[in-house]
Amino acid sequence: MTEPDTSSLLTVLQAIRVLDAVPVSTRTARVSLIDSLGLRLAEPLKTDRDYPPFDKSLMDGYAVRVADVRAAPANLKIVGEVPAGKWPDRSIGAGETMSIMTGAPLPSGADGVVPVEDTEKLDAESVRILRGGSPQRFVARKGSDSPAGQVVLARGSTMGPAQMAVAASVGAGEVEVFTRPRVAVLATGDELVPIGTEPGPSQIRNSNTPMLVSLLRRMGCEVADLGSVRDQPDLIRDALEHGMTYDALFVTGGMSMGEYDYVPRTLQELGIELKVTRLRIKPGKPFVFGVRAGESPLESRSHFVFGLPGNPVSAYVCTLRLASRVLHRLAGGTPQERWLTGRLDTGMPPNGPREFYQPAIRTIAPGRDSTHGEFASITPLNWKGSADLFTLARANVLLVRPENDPPLPKGTVLRVLEM
Ligand code: AMP
Ligand code: MG
Repeated sequence: MTEPDTSSLLTVLQAIRVLDAVPVSTRTARVSLIDSLGLRLAEPLKTDRDYPPFDKSLMDGYAVRVADVRAAPANLKIVGEVPAGKWPDRSIGAGETMSIMTGAPLPSGADGVVPVEDTEKLDAESVRILRGGSPQRFVARKGSDSPAGQVVLARGSTMGPAQMAVAASVGAGEVEVFTRPRVAVLATGDELVPIGTEPGPSQIRNSNTPMLVSLLRRMGCEVADLGSVRDQPDLIRDALEHGMTYDALFVTGGMSMGEYDYVPRTLQELGIELKVTRLRIKPGKPFVFGVRAGESPLESRSHFVFGLPGNPVSAYVCTLRLASRVLHRLAGGTPQERWLTGRLDTGMPPNGPREFYQPAIRTIAPGRDSTHGEFASITPLNWKGSADLFTLARANVLLVRPENDPPLPKGTVLRVLEM
């Protein structure tokens, strides 16, 4: 199939450079630690004291003076016990020991721990140290993990389970984070009815809105559903104007060159600068990116609009590949891409002049593991083009082909984009 000349259109990389260059402003808020999951820190977190806060035993065993056990076997007198959570009630002298548990503070006088496996208890008051080894290695010195006042989570860190644990250790019950971008989704099209309405013979249900709302939520946005609007310039204008009060507006449909495709020209009439119109991408060629720059001190924040083709696969691809970059920056981060690798399980024909995104399934066979030298396999799906949402729903990755990519033999190892 030949296609119209697209050589004058921006490439995906050129569009990415435009997206990554627009200035964005962020918001911050103080939230309880557990509510920060998935958000980025707007402040660095520092240790409030030394970690560990005392010389800590790393084993269950006996706290000893290293000099006493150097010539093991040696018998020592048990003068007490230190469970975790208890401060030792005395110190130890030459020839003495205390039994000690993992996580407990070393009594003063002791400078090592002999694990219980290397000892034999003789009676209630004495123990035989069978092997001296090097007892110092079973002690974590005060401040050795991190001294007091050290940054342990940098500004911009994404809060996940491990970061929660760090914040909890240093006493941060609340954290200052970049808040979720506030975005809105607007569908356009005379043919659309809401899910709950029986479509007439020429109508279809609005499936893009739930797709985009959930995709954007999964990307960490707070999403408003603005429903759908008919292909009438005044209605579209009102809906776009309202939509542009959000950090970013996602509009689907009406983006092309058809007679009823009012969106791009209405955006321009509203004073929105269209920085990208049409791209050398397949699917997704009609993609539009616009900016209304904040001008006044009261409204210094820019508002963005992503114009997505109405075809579901195009809308999905453009949001995942392009819009997500700006969303990550609005959330206080840098653009993120989630690539996986795999091995093609079939040959593929050469690609045309546009960067091409094809739904595919990436599978790893039971008992195999891609970290142990085995690649997952990539099965490109036979799809019927950008309207084919049923095939999209069977895919878990997008196979990305560069412009004019040569044929790919079966077995080629490639990167795929996680959906
Ligand atoms: P358009 O971009 O308006 O030319 O629409 C392209 C195709 O996508 C047409 O077949 C539309 O019916 C379909 N479409 C547009 N908007 C939606 C939507 N919200 N949900 C499902 N399909 C849509
Ligand atoms: Mg339309």
